Amino acid sequence: MADPRQELADLASAGLLRTLRPLDSPAGPRVIREGRELWNFASNDYLGLAGHPALAEAFIEGIRRYGAGAAASRLVCGSLTPHRELEDALAAAKGCEAALTFPSGFATAAGSLPALAGKDDVLVLDKLCHASLIDGARLSGATVRVFPHNDVAKLEKLLEGIRGKQAKARVIVVTESVFSMDGDVCPLQEIVAAKERHGAMLFLDEAHAFGVIGPQGMGLAAREALQDHVEFQMGTLSKAAGLAGGYLATSAAWRDLLVNRARSFIYTTAAPPALAHASLAALELIRSAEGDGLRARLRENVSVISPGHESAIVPVLLGSNEAALEASRRLEEAGYLVPAIRYPTVPRGTARLRVSVSAAHPVAAAEELAGHLGLH
Ligand code: PMP
Repeated sequence: MADPRQELADLASAGLLRTLRPLDSPAGPRVIREGRELWNFASNDYLGLAGHPALAEAFIEGIRRYGAGAAASRLVCGSLTPHRELEDALAAAKGCEAALTFPSGFATAAGSLPALAGKDDVLVLDKLCHASLIDGARLSGATVRVFPHNDVAKLEKLLEGIRGKQAKARVIVVTESVFSMDGDVCPLQEIVAAKERHGAMLFLDEAHAFGVIGPQGMGLAAREALQDHVEFQMGTLSKAAGLAGGYLATSAAWRDLLVNRARSFIYTTAAPPALAHASLAALELIRSAEGDGLRARLRENVSVISPGHESAIVPVLLGSNEAALEASRRLEEAGYLVPAIRYPTVPRGTARLRVSVSAAHPVAAAEELAGHLGLH
C-alpha cells in the first residue's frame, strides 16, 4: 500500500488516530494550549524539576563549561567529565558498582537488552512492559516469554519450564517498578525470590519510581533494600529528574559489556555534556531535603486523587477509545490536560485517562480535578 492516507483513515475510524497538538508554553504545571490555560496532569514531571531554576542554571553553566554538543560517540572522541561524573554519582546512589548513561530511556532499554541476551538466552517479560523493553527484547534475538501482569505464580511456572529445558541458558526477568500506564507497583520481593530460585537475573525498569519512591527517591529496589538482588537497575532522567536521558546501573563487568555491545550506546552521539551536568544537579536535588519535601507534596496531591496510591500515575479506566477521548475532551473544556491512552499503548478495550500528578500542582488543583473525575 503506497498511499498512507488509507491507513490514517483506518486509524481514525477505529478511534486510534494520534495527532500532534501544539503546546504554547513551557510544560509546567499550568500550560497554555491554543490560547487557553490548563492544569497539566499529563506530564511525567513528578517533582516539578523540569522548570526548577537550579536545574536551568546548571544546564547553562554546563553549556558555558562544555559547549553545546558532545560532537561524537563516547567511544570515538572520549568520555567527557560530566558523563563520567554523572555515572559515578548514579552508581553510588543506586548502590551499584557502575552505571552507563544513554541519550534516552528508550535507547537504554532498546540497546541494553540485546547486549545482555542473545539467541541462546531467554527474556521473561511482564505482559505490560513498556514498548522500549518489548522492542529491546525483540531485537535481542533471545527467546521471549511473557507472564501475566504482576502474576508471580505464573512467572514461577514459566521459569520452572524454562529451566527444565534449558538448564544453562541465561535467563533474565524484565519488569518495571511502577507501570507506566497503570501506576501500580510490582511485587519486587516475590519476583526476586522467584528469579533466585531458578538462577535467573532481574532487569528492573525504575523509570517512574526514580525520584518518587524509596529513600532519597532512589526507587523500589532501594525501598525494599534489594539493590544487591537486582542485577540491572534501569531508569530515566526524563521523568522525575525533569531532563532527558536514561541509565543502567549494574556491576562493572556488565557495564563494560554494554560499552562493547549496546548499539544504542556505541552508534550514537553522546548526549550534550551540559545535559549530563544538569542531570548531576537533578540527582543531587532529588536526594536532598528539598527532594524529600517535593516527594511529600507529591504524596499529598496523589492522596487527594487516589488515597493510598503509591505512584504519581493514576489511571481511570473507561474501556472504549471513544469514551476515553470524550472524557479527555470534557476535562480539557473544564481546564485540565489529562490524556486519553489507547491501544497499542494499553491493551484493546482498556482505554483510559492517565492522570499524572506532580509536586508542582497546588493541592486545590488536584482537589478540583478529583471533583471533575467524580472521585469526590
Ligand atoms: N521505560 C518506561 C517504563 C517508560 O514509561 C518510558 C517513557 N515513557 C521509558 C522507559 C522511556 O524513557 P524516555 O522517555 O527517557 O525515553
